[in-house]
Amino acid sequence: MASQFTQHSGLILEKVSHSFGKKRAVNNVSLQVFPGEVVCLLGPSGCGKTTLLRVSAGIERVQTGRIFVSGREVASPDNEVFPENRSVGLMFQDYALFPHLSVFQNVGFGLNKLKKRDRNLRVKNLLDDVDLGHCANAYPHSLSGGEQQRVALMRVLAPEPSVILLDEPFSGLDIRLRSKTRIETIKILKRHGVAVLLVTHDFEEAMLLGDKIALMQDGTIAQMGSPSDLYQRPNTPFVASFFGDVNTLTGVVKGGFVKTVIGDFSTKLADGTAVIIMIRPDDFDIISEADGNPGFPAHVSNSHNLGPLTHINLIPEGSKLVISARFLTKKAPKTGTKVLIRLDPSYAFVFPATLQT
Ligand code: ATP
Repeated sequence: MASQFTQHSGLILEKVSHSFGKKRAVNNVSLQVFPGEVVCLLGPSGCGKTTLLRVSAGIERVQTGRIFVSGREVASPDNEVFPENRSVGLMFQDYALFPHLSVFQNVGFGLNKLKKRDRNLRVKNLLDDVDLGHCANAYPHSLSGGEQQRVALMRVLAPEPSVILLDEPFSGLDIRLRSKTRIETIKILKRHGVAVLLVTHDFEEAMLLGDKIALMQDGTIAQMGSPSDLYQRPNTPFVASFFGDVNTLTGVVKGGFVKTVIGDFSTKLADGTAVIIMIRPDDFDIISEADGNPGFPAHVSNSHNLGPLTHINLIPEGSKLVISARFLTKKAPKTGTKVLIRLDPSYAFVFPATLQT
């Protein structure tokens, strides 16, 4: 029984660890992916994403912990169900299509237990579903990157697995094709109602595609939740800074506040605690006058227009601190211009300085 989780469907990893020699690649990871849900496994290179996927698929043996698929235990140190019997489909980064088999044969590859008529019908329906019916007799090398990706996806979906594991499935596509393909892929996966664990190192991709994000750091899950949870309520400096640039200030708590040159920030941390404060560049506004709201005067040290956005480095009055800010404007103010800046203090993340890695 998977004691930690209430619902025994989809994919459950319970206290899974995996080491290569002395290197602990995955350390005590627990997570659940429900049917119809997409969880993005996000993290920097080497944090253990691929190892976790390979352990889930059965390519690596589980050394500690247990894995369940649709309520059935498929892996523990003394029970290892073969990968092909787990109801888990794995799609590799390079798609790994069989070059000597046609599109039709590639998609039908895992269906040898079906009668020929049923197999042919299933493959035909899957190819029609993604507008690839006309490519059935073609060979992978004659297809575009996007078509190959769809064939690989259909091959994984053909045996109707309960769980699909995708390892960086869009990294081989050029940028224009990538944005179209990833939305289509998620629509297809949602239609099939499978539990999806998708590895990516791209936080924007994870925010776009994931119902939830599991952010990994050094083999553990640093934080798991909805994209907005992780972006707006990061629980460590690592999580805050993984989702883009942040300005980092330091201070000490006094009377429930941390005083800085750009304002005072409230915190529940104890008096005397040394803290770091992290603020995203997008969380500042330029205002014409203080207008009752706390604002701080600064001057522009330089600015660059980036199309719809303008990036401005600001130096708050009476300090040497440089604040990096981004505004939704095409007008870049001149260097030296004096501006009044407002920041909603709830957008500032205050962490004990000891958490900084
Ligand atoms: P990337 O995004 O670069 O693919 P990742 O997050 O997927 O990285 P893993 O490939 O899971 O990370 O690797 C986690 C750690 O385990 C790394 O330190 C890596 O060097 C190590 N590792 C992975 N596979 C092996 C292996 N077969 N033998 C030894 N060490 C390995």
